[in-house]
Amino acid sequence: MPELPEVETIVRDIRPAVMGRMISGMLVRPKAVQHLMNVDAETFYKNIIAHSITTVLRKGKYIIMPLDNSAVLVFHLGMTGRLLSQKVPDVNFEDRFTSNTYIDKHTHLILDLMDPTGDDDDVELQFNDVRLFGKIWLVPQSDNIEDLPVPGLSSLGPDALGITLDEFSSIMRTKRNVKAVLLDQNKVAGVGNIYADEACFASGVHPTRTGASLTKEECGKLWLSVKTVLKEGLKYRGSSTSDYTDASGRTGSFQDYHKVYQKAGQKCVGCGETIERIKLAGRSTHFCPSCQK
Ligand SMILES: [Zn+2]
Repeated sequence: MPELPEVETIVRDIRPAVMGRMISGMLVRPKAVQHLMNVDAETFYKNIIAHSITTVLRKGKYIIMPLDNSAVLVFHLGMTGRLLSQKVPDVNFEDRFTSNTYIDKHTHLILDLMDPTGDDDDVELQFNDVRLFGKIWLVPQSDNIEDLPVPGLSSLGPDALGITLDEFSSIMRTKRNVKAVLLDQNKVAGVGNIYADEACFASGVHPTRTGASLTKEECGKLWLSVKTVLKEGLKYRGSSTSDYTDASGRTGSFQDYHKVYQKAGQKCVGCGETIERIKLAGRSTHFCPSCQK
């Protein structure tokens, strides 16, 4: 599942490509209805056509695009969703779904985006999703992102890149294990399975520890490690352990730097002990039994 570094990479990629552009066309395949959560395709089209995308924002793993008509497009990539942008290919309309390299059978929705000044080529924004857990909402604008009527958005905790040590220490005052707290989007937004495991390893904290059992120093180390691994993930444009690509269809490379995630049975880079995998908080959890206490 795309986590904060992957979603932020996509947001940074598509922002300059789509900002200020007007939605001038839409192509949908039948499966797009599974992604449109609160609106049918026709209403969706009527409310977005001829309106411009004013910016692209991220909150947790949500991608938010306010339009100039007080409507807001919200995307969640789910397990395997991708947002891709490219120049509109120079082919006939009916060939758009078949004629170029990275549109494939999993591309369910395409928005054409026109430069109102006419200076730049038209761009298309594609929503591609193999497993169909991705979600799209069309909602009215509100003063705060948190108030948008999108399930899960209003209850998100502080963003993992911005959470303060005080806030982090506060969410760790719990009998739940640290892995479960890190994965809980209502406590801290943006961390998923990969970065939770890597942050625990980087801080030397065993993922089964309860939040309340962490010393002040351990809690501080874990807080710093969460931010460090997310920033490293961003630097390498995300982790492509399964379907993730950036907005150009290219894979990230942070998976080459994972220390424990999906490394079960391999030797720990820190001590040579064998990395273990257990099920924790409902997810596969990878750790070094020697380096992590
Ligand atoms: Zn180790």
